[in-house]
Amino acid sequence: MQANRNDRPRSAARPHGSAPSALGRLAVLAIFAASMATAQPAKPKPEDTEVWTPIPPKVSPQPFKPAPAPAGAVVLFDGSNLDQWVSHKDGSPAHWPITDGVLTVDKKLGDIRTKRSFRSYHMHIEWRIPKDITGSGQARGNSGVFVASTGAGDLGYELQILDSWDNATYVNGQAGSVYKQFAPKVNATRPPGEWQAYDIIWTAPTFEADGRLKTPARLTAHQNGVLIQDNVTLAGETAYIGKPVYRPYAEAPIKLQAHGDPSEPVSFRNIWLQPLP
Ligand code: MG
Repeated sequence: MQANRNDRPRSAARPHGSAPSALGRLAVLAIFAASMATAQPAKPKPEDTEVWTPIPPKVSPQPFKPAPAPAGAVVLFDGSNLDQWVSHKDGSPAHWPITDGVLTVDKKLGDIRTKRSFRSYHMHIEWRIPKDITGSGQARGNSGVFVASTGAGDLGYELQILDSWDNATYVNGQAGSVYKQFAPKVNATRPPGEWQAYDIIWTAPTFEADGRLKTPARLTAHQNGVLIQDNVTLAGETAYIGKPVYRPYAEAPIKLQAHGDPSEPVSFRNIWLQPLP
């Protein structure tokens, strides 16, 4: 005898609405399928690319050694003027203040970049976090050396400047990090108010004629005489949000960042470089 679908006693019926009809189920399926077809990946957030551990161990920096520009070096700032620099946003003359041979960020004026463009080089640059620095995390003495500034805003490749003496932040955003790609191997930071030095070996990426990456960028850096980046191979430009990508360029200016946070501005002196083949 064939079972009758309607044999089920009426009294056992589920509460109204809990058992969708075949048509209702189809409608739900259709809506689900449509939503899958149009689903976008979650919008990337800055936090997605922050790395907080392991924390690079603190090491004692070497005693400060004067590093005069070698013969033949390109002197970018010797304490006297900003002739080698322009405003990043419009190429007009750079006007950050110079006091007693020291250049200080003017956050209202924005980033500055070199007039000249470069490929690979060894660069020396000295920087100082103000003694009275305030703020925390990325909002405490944030600046940066863009070893290649490849376009508007913060496009390019940043070696981070920040007060990392006693200031928790994501380690791939602390002083000496290749921003959001490589934390420094160690924390060789000096306290606020003291001069610090970066010596940077930048090997520019190369690109095929059609724009595809041929060889990636590499970077080695010493902070205060201590190796903090050891010939790391970059995954692309340093991005605040999202994955790094390469965008072809031939040569690029070097940029100093006027970061938008409200903390007291960073200073610079003795900036020079030697182009490398
Ligand atoms: Mg920065």
